[in-house]
Amino acid sequence: MQVLKFGGTSVANAENINRVVAIVKESVAKGKTAIVVSALGGITDLLLEAASQAAEGTETYREKLVLIEQRHLDAVKLLIPVVQQSKYLSLVKKSCNEIEDICNGIFLLRELTPRSKDRIASYGEWLSSQIIAAKFIAEGLNVQWKDSRELIITNSSFTAAEVFFGETNKNINAYFASSDASLYILPGFIAADNSGITTTLGRGGSDFSAAIIAAAVKASVLEIWTDVSGMMTADPRLTNNARIIPHISYQEAMELSHFGAKVIYPPTIQPVMGKGIPVWIKNTFVPADKGTLIEAVVSEKDGDIVRGISSINNIVLISLEGSGMIGIPGFSKRLFEALSSEKINVILITQSSSEHSICVGIDAVWAEKAKQAVDSAFANEIALEKVEPLRIETELSIVALVGENMKSHTGVSGRMFSAMGKNGVNVRAIAQGSSEKNISAVIATKDVRKAINVLHEEFFETTYKQVNLFITGTGNVGAKLLAQLQQQLEFLKTFALADKYCRA
Ligand code: ASP
Repeated sequence: MQVLKFGGTSVANAENINRVVAIVKESVAKGKTAIVVSALGGITDLLLEAASQAAEGTETYREKLVLIEQRHLDAVKLLIPVVQQSKYLSLVKKSCNEIEDICNGIFLLRELTPRSKDRIASYGEWLSSQIIAAKFIAEGLNVQWKDSRELIITNSSFTAAEVFFGETNKNINAYFASSDASLYILPGFIAADNSGITTTLGRGGSDFSAAIIAAAVKASVLEIWTDVSGMMTADPRLTNNARIIPHISYQEAMELSHFGAKVIYPPTIQPVMGKGIPVWIKNTFVPADKGTLIEAVVSEKDGDIVRGISSINNIVLISLEGSGMIGIPGFSKRLFEALSSEKINVILITQSSSEHSICVGIDAVWAEKAKQAVDSAFANEIALEKVEPLRIETELSIVALVGENMKSHTGVSGRMFSAMGKNGVNVRAIAQGSSEKNISAVIATKDVRKAINVLHEEFFETTYKQVNLFITGTGNVGAKLLAQLQQQLEFLKTFALADKYCRA
């Protein structure tokens, strides 16, 4: 079986859904196919905004609900033949009435719990998948729609539920073994806890739903269809020269997605990696583009030493410093305990071997909480001047080089830091694990664009320099010179490349 997932922009409206239909028909011709869909683009945001406005007592939530209803009604009218429309128009009306009832309740109570958020958000995928299934039925395909909440079972951590894989895999396998369709359509993102209450897998979680299904049925392939032609060497908004990565390993894809490359939802790789299922990232709007293939091993000749460059903004560095820490076990344990007791996620850690300071990178929203928690955990030592109150440095970002081949090459970090240094980018902290898949540097946010550009140039762009040569008079001598330059072109290019690798 093949599993295909279509994101919000791919199913944003009838026109786009028609593109999806063409892509899916080709897959069905090759064999049994399951498709997992997101909500129509922007609907999840609208649903959650309506809920928040209701909770704040702002009546404008009703305008959002009108918009939500209209988008779905339009999709039904444009996609489904008139004779079959009425069933789906009333399905949309009924669901939108339910959403309104829930929002009215939230408005009256002025209370919006994570559980209610999940319930409201779930309507997005539930409706889009029903409408898309209806479209395929109208196209005459042998289709089955299935509510993912009956298959994917999670704990009750609403808005970011954790999957119980044992039960979930059993349900998925039992379902696909017992039914015989050529095309299955399932809503992404939504699941249920053991009591049947709706949960969601986190924003962007439809990719994960597709990966869970693909891994359970040991699919031959998982295709993530989105609005870009693959993972890129860097954020194209930061550098014009970013290009598609044709081939990348699971590990590298995980590193890049955790590091802000928004093409796939970070947990997606984990389930398929265990089963060795190849993942393709493809563009619904340019299906002929090759895309990015993610699989277990990528040979070195298949790409660059560095596979991609990524960055995350809104970082603060917190530093615990003091001579009283040197040689005494337990300081780092207490620091991390203080952070975890406030549920503060640690993004980067460094400690110099002098043990005089431990430096941790966290999301800027947690800065105040971290300060309170750590200063109170070390109140005694601070009073005795063994350590200093927690130091916080703000307006920082992390840039990271990602690539599995970095471990077998010397000088990568040297090139990274010298390229940044030569361009006046000051490095505040560095982290590199011994697996050498990721080298991270903390820099000022204002330097991120510059850093990404110089690193991209250093690792992905050729070292050819463009020289403008003006020759006046192209008689015998000038013409000969031009001909010689033309003749030497290939040699000069190889020479430049050889020079680059000698330096590496
Ligand atoms: N619709 C959900 C969201 O916008 C899940 C998804 O599309 O992956 O986050």
